[in-house]
Amino acid sequence: MKEKYINFSSQKRGKTRRRWRKGVLIATFVLTVGVISAAVYAVKANATKTPPSASSTKAGASASPQKNSSSLAQTSSTKPGGKTTTKIPVLMYHSINFDPKNPQNILRVPKDKFAAEMKWLHDNEYTTLSLDELYNAVSNNKPVAEKSVVLTFDDGYGDNYDNALPVIKQYGFKATVFMISSKVGDSKNGYLTAAQIKEMDKNGMHIECHTVHHPDLSTLSYNQQYNELSKSKADLEALLGRPVDYIAYPSGKYNSSSIKAAKAIGYKLCFKMNGGIASISSSRYEFPRAFVGEDLQDFKNRVKGTADYSK
Ligand SMILES: [Zn+2]
Repeated sequence: MKEKYINFSSQKRGKTRRRWRKGVLIATFVLTVGVISAAVYAVKANATKTPPSASSTKAGASASPQKNSSSLAQTSSTKPGGKTTTKIPVLMYHSINFDPKNPQNILRVPKDKFAAEMKWLHDNEYTTLSLDELYNAVSNNKPVAEKSVVLTFDDGYGDNYDNALPVIKQYGFKATVFMISSKVGDSKNGYLTAAQIKEMDKNGMHIECHTVHHPDLSTLSYNQQYNELSKSKADLEALLGRPVDYIAYPSGKYNSSSIKAAKAIGYKLCFKMNGGIASISSSRYEFPRAFVGEDLQDFKNRVKGTADYSK
């Protein structure tokens, strides 16, 4: 019974399948024409609008639900007629957590304060650049959209996964974590696990280098520095299965041997801990970053370039 049913249905299926295939072909054609016309219409409609950067500086800009990934995908390329800049704040975070035992620790930003800072960037239509996008701007001396910002996190704390990643994903932002490679998996001491690192790397928070052991590079020989810079790169590349091209010097300490080693190894950009707002003409091997803390007004000043960066 079962056999008969199969034979019968396979004959019938042959005809049905041919008819069905024809139907699919027609449907695909109609759909393709429809999509193309819609795209042409959308491009025309868009061209008549005022560029968003011209009209959105203050409070009213908060309603921008369609912002997220589509407009962020424009990245370092600038919108036609949009304002551009050669200055780019590279913001430096560490832990996104609050330690009640050590409230004075300025390297910890409580998660609600961090979320408020990211919301402000989103509401004010900032574009977060990946390090590849930053590098493209720097290597081609190409201005980026006026409100561009780079988000970085040093050391690789587990709370970056728990408290920063959900916010970064919520806004479709891009960020970078500079991971101490010997700390991968040291969750007992508060560092990211290999699984968390892989998940973050695929969800907007790219993992880059912060040496193997987080030494003061300026106290090491050239060979010791070379090993710290090359082994951490190789280990992270093996974990992530992609090139790792960027490094932040631990505690911002480095010397001419660090730069020489970084060049020899092939790092594209090396970040320090201070220097205020970076520019597309900043040194690729001493790229400045701006420290940010939990005070929202101070954060805004640092993003806008009106802060006192000596603090
Ligand atoms: Zn560090």
